[in-house]
This record gives sequence, structure tokens and C-alpha cells, in this order.
Amino acid sequence: MSTVIRDPEVLSRYERDVSVVQGRPDGVVRPTEVDQVEQIVGLCAKEGTPVLAVGARTSTTGASVATDGGVVVDMTALGTDAQVDPQTATLRAQPGAVLADLHLLARQHGFDMPVDPTSSPDCTIGGAVATNASGPSSFRHGAIADWVVGLEFVDGLGQRRRLRSPGVPKRAMGPAALQDAPRWFVGSEGTLGMLTEATLRLRPSPKSMIG
Ligand SMILES: Cc1cc2nc3c(=O)[nH]c(=O)nc-3n(C[C@H](O)[C@H](O)[C@H](O)COP(=O)(O)OP(=O)(O)OC[C@H]3O[C@@H](n4cnc5c(N)ncnc54)[C@H](O)[C@@H]3O)c2cc1C
Repeated sequence: MSTVIRDPEVLSRYERDVSVVQGRPDGVVRPTEVDQVEQIVGLCAKEGTPVLAVGARTSTTGASVATDGGVVVDMTALGTDAQVDPQTATLRAQPGAVLADLHLLARQHGFDMPVDPTSSPDCTIGGAVATNASGPSSFRHGAIADWVVGLEFVDGLGQRRRLRSPGVPKRAMGPAALQDAPRWFVGSEGTLGMLTEATLRLRPSPKSMIG
């Protein structure tokens, strides 16, 4: 079980994100294994204690502030590892991976991940998926929901679950889009579960870029 940190100095560091919203958690956990996320969420569910997943806390809306107290689960502790699979043109990352590092990794393998919120140098893939992050490239390539093909998360009862995209075209509308289960999770701001791994498809690196 991951230790619940109650040191006031540590708690005060989690009182704010970049918004004006403020709220003090009763405890902070920094799980290093998915099992620990399952345990803490399961325990909090039984006790009715609020839990909040946070990444780099670059939220401008107070979404990563524990306004109801409870336990903040710092998902960056789970790791920043990521791998590119050139065969399937996909990238798999742990929730603490920083977007800018993933851009670099994709480029090193001859691919491009056109998801570029301005906060890319700081924000995590976990936070980007949870907020359906978008950026300048989204005008042409859509938001991150259009690139996510697989997710692993811990649900509100503390159970690990996996979602896979069935291969429906990402810009599909209507009933076809409803079959794309990962899409339901993207943008849910942590309300459907804590993301522990994300798989994104990649596109071949463009031959040239302007700017
Ligand atoms: C200077 C600046 C520029 C920005 N530019 C953009 C932009 O261009 N486009 C854009 O979309 N946003 C932008 N943002 C907003 C913010 O950076 C993004 O929403 C970012 O994706 C959040 O990532 P994070 O790791 O900081 O998440 P956090 O701020 O820590 O969390 C954000 C939300 O995601 C949830 N969450 C975090 N990690 C997980 C997880 N592992 N599982 C489940 N839920 C989780 C939190 O509970 C919270 O609801 C900007 C912010 C700043 C400060």
C-alpha cells in the first residue's frame, strides 16, 4: 500500500494548480505501481472519501485542486516510460510522461504525434487525455481523442480496466463513434477513473514543416 502523506508542507504544495482555485487535500499519495492505485481508490470508495488524480497540475480551471478535501493521487509517480511500436505506428506511455518528451520520442522513430497543447513542455499524457487536450495542430488533426486507441485505467471501485478502439475511423460520427470506447473516457477529467496507461496512434513524420 502506498503511504498517505499528511505532512502539511507537502499538502500545501498540492493546494493550487495554475488557476485561482484553492483547496487543501487531507492526504496525498504517490503510487509507483498500478496495484497501489487500485488499493487507494478501493479503500476511498469504501469509506466515501473523495479522490482526485493529478498530473502536472497545469489545469487553468482548478480541475487538479482538491476542493472537497480527500486524497490527491499524484499520477506522475507511476512513471514517465513510453515506447513506440513501429509495426503498429503506436506509442504507449505511462501517465506521468510529459507530452513534449513524447513528441521527441515519436520523432526519433520517424513519426509525429500531432497533439500540441501550449502546455506540452509541462503537461502529462494522463492530464492531456483526461482533458481531451488540443492545440494548433487540432485544426487539421483533431484533439487527442482522435489519436487515442487504447487505455488502461482504475475505475471508481478500484478495479483495473482496459479499453481498446475497435478500429472505427477516428472522425466517425453517429453510432460508429459510440463503439469507440476509449473516446468515452477521453475528456472525462478523471471522473470515470484514473488513467494508468495510454496508447496513441502516430502518423508518419511530415517531410517538411512550416514554423
Ligand atoms: C500555459 C498553459 C497553456 C495551456 N495550453 C493549453 C492548450 O493549448 N490546450 C489545452 O487543451 N490545454 C491547455 N492548457 C491546460 C492544461 O495544460 C491541459 O489541460 C493539460 O493537458 C493538463 O495536463 P496536466 O498533466 O497538467 O493535468 P492536471 O492539470 O494535473 O489535471 C487536469 C485534469 O486531468 C485529470 N487527470 C490528470 N491526470 C489524470 C490521470 N492520470 N487519470 C485521470 N485523470 C487525470 C485531473 O483530475 C484534472 O481533472 C494550458 C495550461 C497552461 C498553464
